[in-house]
Amino acid sequence: MPLVFTNISEVYTPMQRITGAALAVKDSRVAWLGSGPNLPDLYRSWPQQDIGNRAVLPGLVDSHTHLVWAGSRVDEYRRRAKGSSYEEILSSGGGIYNTVTATQKASEDELYELARERAKIFLRGGVTTLELKSGYGLEAEHELKMLKVIRRLKETLPQRFVPTLLAHVIPHNWSRQSYLEMFSTELIPEVKRLGLAEAVDVFCDQGAFSLAETKRIFETALEHGLKIKVHAEQLKHSGASKLVAEMGGLSADHLEQSTLDDWQALAKSGTVGTALPGATVILKKPFPKLRAMWDAGVKVAVATDHNPGSSPLYSMFLAMQLAIALGGLSAEEALIAGSKHSAEALAKSDLGTLKPGAKADFIVIEGTDAMLPLYGWGYQPIHAVYIGGNKISAST
Ligand SMILES: [Zn+2]
Repeated sequence: MPLVFTNISEVYTPMQRITGAALAVKDSRVAWLGSGPNLPDLYRSWPQQDIGNRAVLPGLVDSHTHLVWAGSRVDEYRRRAKGSSYEEILSSGGGIYNTVTATQKASEDELYELARERAKIFLRGGVTTLELKSGYGLEAEHELKMLKVIRRLKETLPQRFVPTLLAHVIPHNWSRQSYLEMFSTELIPEVKRLGLAEAVDVFCDQGAFSLAETKRIFETALEHGLKIKVHAEQLKHSGASKLVAEMGGLSADHLEQSTLDDWQALAKSGTVGTALPGATVILKKPFPKLRAMWDAGVKVAVATDHNPGSSPLYSMFLAMQLAIALGGLSAEEALIAGSKHSAEALAKSDLGTLKPGAKADFIVIEGTDAMLPLYGWGYQPIHAVYIGGNKISAST
């Protein structure tokens, strides 16, 4: 049913700020958005809903999460808090392999229940779209299990979920050569055949995949019509961000060790550069130079990298606050990074932005100032979340 939301104190589209706004929605998309008094006659006869002089923001888009996982890494968190590094924990057989074992053991139903509860927390925090990766299954059957969990979340929850196949690490019981062979000749074609992922991501770093291995996986993904993205320049500089830019990829994520050369390649190709502030801060890495990246023409996005090890972060607003405080972005830029740019990192130009034709996904803020959730740390003044113009209850 068409509907006009009226009495909006202010809205960030996010490229533009409009005060005293009205928003017309039809067929789950934005029909019109502008200053209330300018509402065209056409829409004045539509049913109206008074927003109560509250502010509105676009629904947030978290373009990088590992939301499907089982087990607990609380003990590792304690060790890291005492000074152990991620690399030390990984090389002593801990870290990601703990999650792999627990995720392999868990059934599809168990993983679904765990991920569903996490997705609800994100919904309450204003996140209407999430990218979800596989990557803790490692073996083909468990990678497929994770992707089937994501498909089930997509079918049963109101949020929008975008699935990605992740080449995370080489399992201990495989040789590099044979795992790469299996991943490229069996797993990618099967995932494509079943329609279980839109993109393939590679963790290209120390302890994971090399640049040459990453390139090979990307070539296979592209041959199968899947998009590509990469975990790049996090622990060591690998050149993966330049590679993904040159191969027309969606995004290079992390970027703690990235350089001007990398930013210029990303800017030239339009590949999004995604900061993951949770992992940067928890692993005590240098914060990506977001101000310089933005000024070099990179489309900078911000995401949570939610995962049980290096970023148990459930809040996009906190990720954006860190990008402001430590990355030098303005509040307006951080908002763009967490909505429009992060949607572009998923090739979803009709999400993360409120403009005619875009999906009517938005957050109603409890207050007249749209920046309140970026101002208050650990405080989420969210009155309601709408997806496709429908009010969504986080308790469902
Ligand atoms: Zn990640």
